Amino acid sequence: MTHLAIVARAENLRAVGERQQQAAMASVRLFEELLDSVKLAMRAGAADASRWSATPAECVAGAARMADSHPFIRRVAVVDGDGRVRCTGVGLAPGISLADRPFVRHALATGEVVLGTPVVSRLTAEVVLPVALAIPDEAGRAPDKPALLTAELDLDWMVRQVAGSEAGSELARFAVLVSDDGLVVAEYPQPSGHAEETSRRLVETVLSAPLGWAELQDAEGRDSIVGFAHMLSMGLALAVGIDSVAVLRPLDREMLVTLVLALLTAALGITTAMAMARRAIGRPVLALTDAARALASGAPSPPLPTGAWYGEFEILKQAFRRMTSEIARRQEALEASNSELEAANRLLIDLAERDSLTGLANRRAFDLALEAAWKRGLREATPVAVLIIDLDHFKQFNDRYGHLEGDACLMRVAGLLMAMQLRPYDLAARLGGEEFAVLLPDSDVPGAVAVGERIRAALHDMMLLHEGSPLGFVTASIGAASMVPLGPAEPRVLLAAADRALYAAKAAGRDRVSAEGWAVAA
Ligand code: GH3
Ligand code: MG
Ligand code: MG
Repeated sequence: MTHLAIVARAENLRAVGERQQQAAMASVRLFEELLDSVKLAMRAGAADASRWSATPAECVAGAARMADSHPFIRRVAVVDGDGRVRCTGVGLAPGISLADRPFVRHALATGEVVLGTPVVSRLTAEVVLPVALAIPDEAGRAPDKPALLTAELDLDWMVRQVAGSEAGSELARFAVLVSDDGLVVAEYPQPSGHAEETSRRLVETVLSAPLGWAELQDAEGRDSIVGFAHMLSMGLALAVGIDSVAVLRPLDREMLVTLVLALLTAALGITTAMAMARRAIGRPVLALTDAARALASGAPSPPLPTGAWYGEFEILKQAFRRMTSEIARRQEALEASNSELEAANRLLIDLAERDSLTGLANRRAFDLALEAAWKRGLREATPVAVLIIDLDHFKQFNDRYGHLEGDACLMRVAGLLMAMQLRPYDLAARLGGEEFAVLLPDSDVPGAVAVGERIRAALHDMMLLHEGSPLGFVTASIGAASMVPLGPAEPRVLLAAADRALYAAKAAGRDRVSAEGWAVAA
């Protein structure tokens, strides 16, 4: 910012300096035009003077008249060929010799309007620029006894004209006329307010180049921008200055306003961009983050905002939507296949533990249940009882009615066992062939025998036709056993006991319940 301001100020300064240099050149042209007027006035005056310069009284009057009629002429005098003043309108006493002045000799020799070099007036201590022209005789020829019309030019007036002219006014707070030998010949305004030091630096600057500009500071610290140009033929230079503060401040302010505006615009742009970025980037990122978090935690993903998103975020949104729906699809498929799997597993377990013909628990399920009941009995010191039920003369049944009919009979017996309203933890099973079993946890031998009797009675009630059987219907022999498990000995011991009881029932005539150590009459 500071750097920019410095660069901007330097740029302004250069522009003003160059303009000031142009102003100095324009002032020089104006000054030269004034000098042309001076020359014209001198020629006219010299022609007049050939009439009035001969007698002393007329000479004084004529000289005064001429000085009055031109604002740029201060004093007019007629100088004789020997360089002595013949007459003068005001000031110079007649008889003073100007013979040593180069312009006098030069004018006498050439018959041209000759400009002298600025000199400090002996009378007024003002710097004056003398001008001289030979006075022709009345016939307009060079006279035998030559005389010069001389005048002192009012340089201050001329500089004021230059400074106050339309060309200079805007650009000249002050104008200074400097001679080649470093003399401040005239200045406007008067007093200039320039301290000695300022004047010295101004003169140095002006003498440093035929044309240019510089920034100078006066005694009061005011900065001026001075343009200068030399009138080479006259050994004079004109400098026109302007307050840099007055010129640069509005420009600086303009530049500052422009800078501030540019910064504001940039800030506004950045703020807008940030706001847009928040909308265009922040929101999508937050929305996607929330959605992804929800997705990761298994919660339902919040719906993404509708409306198109900025740039790649739209693509990301679409991709995210595809991903979530794909995840949902896979999740559903997974759940479906899980439940299928569970069903299949259940089915497998079912198949593994269920007798396919009768729907009763099979041998494997019975063994597992027996093992669990055995462990519980061991833990709780409670008895475990089993019944083994074997249909009587079933081979004959098959032989007589066929295997299918035999199967149907087995299913009916199974149905009977299922309908027995056993306790929930009792289990009826088909051990294989025409052999069934009932697990009765927490039952002693009488309890088991009682259940066996209920079964036998129910079978009687069913009266399943079996013509080869002594009673004409299907009967069964039942072996019962009950034990309180005393050690981890396999429950096979219990089964063996029940088996033995079954054989005992068969041996005793079938259609009866036997228990080891118990003889139950049919
Ligand atoms: P017991 O009174 O001594 O028990 O004589 P049983 O004929 O019943 O005894 P056995 O063990 O000699 O014969 C069992 C018969 O049961 C043999 C077979 O024909 C029949 N059987 C075994 N499993 C099935 C089956 O799944 N379906 C059918 N229909 N019959 C079977
Ligand atoms: Mg059998
Ligand atoms: Mg049998």
